[in-house]
Amino acid sequence: MNQAASKAGAVRLDAVAFGYGEVLFRFDTAFPAGAITAVMGPSGSGKSTLLNLVAGFETPQSGRVLIDGVDMTATPPAERPVSMVFQENNLFSHLSVEKNVGLGRSPSLKLGPADRQAVWAALERTGLAGKERRLPRELSGGERQRVALARALVREQPVLLLDEPFASLGPALRHDMLDLVADLQAERGMTTLFVTHHPEDARRLAGHVVFLEDGRIAAAGTADDFFAGTGPEAFRRYIGLDGDRSRDVARKPT
Ligand code: ADP
Ligand code: MG
Repeated sequence: MNQAASKAGAVRLDAVAFGYGEVLFRFDTAFPAGAITAVMGPSGSGKSTLLNLVAGFETPQSGRVLIDGVDMTATPPAERPVSMVFQENNLFSHLSVEKNVGLGRSPSLKLGPADRQAVWAALERTGLAGKERRLPRELSGGERQRVALARALVREQPVLLLDEPFASLGPALRHDMLDLVADLQAERGMTTLFVTHHPEDARRLAGHVVFLEDGRIAAAGTADDFFAGTGPEAFRRYIGLDGDRSRDVARKPT
């Protein structure tokens, strides 16, 4: 953990137990600081729940959530050093692009010069300059996800949680967005947890992978190991059923 300790944003789930009624989750893992980890696993395996526990939208029944060694288990979401982008972008439909992004800076939209500067920089960086006065409905799906990403960026937090943020976009647009995330992460070094169904997206973006099954981490390791064809068996089985291209990714040499 020497490397993790030297960078901001080390996330650790320490013997976290949680449940929705009968559906139980148990997470005991650490995510490397300043790196991108892909979070994969079948639908319902607990990917969103894991992110919600880190963000503070859910609270463990036991165990601790630590960020940079600080116990955040009882800290409300707004006070955690975390930003999250959801699959549905959660924009306010009656607010302009600029204001939606400004909310990342100040929930009451009381923005000083430095805040406005940060908002403009994020709009520029996400390719939204010139669209700042539009309403969400006047944007494409890809542009709306850019707004959500810009809103996360202006918070300038060391941990970025991306819960299938580009799942509704077509492949070309999705790849553009992945490149943008990769560039932003390289510039700012956020600890990034990226939930995706697409093995090729994980390969493109992430240095590390965690694979969830039934509310627990069934395997964790480097992306190179996961995609080497000799990766964890449960993961191979999962992506083997996930479409033609991904089958090739994991084919074991015969
Ligand atoms: P994933 O993101 O991997 O698809 P989730 O973390 O959303 O999975 O959900 C894991 C399990 O928890 C699923 O069985 C789901 O039905 C259940 N679940 C998720 N959110 C809730 C909730 N708010 N109330 C009750 N059960 C939930
Ligand atoms: Mg989910």
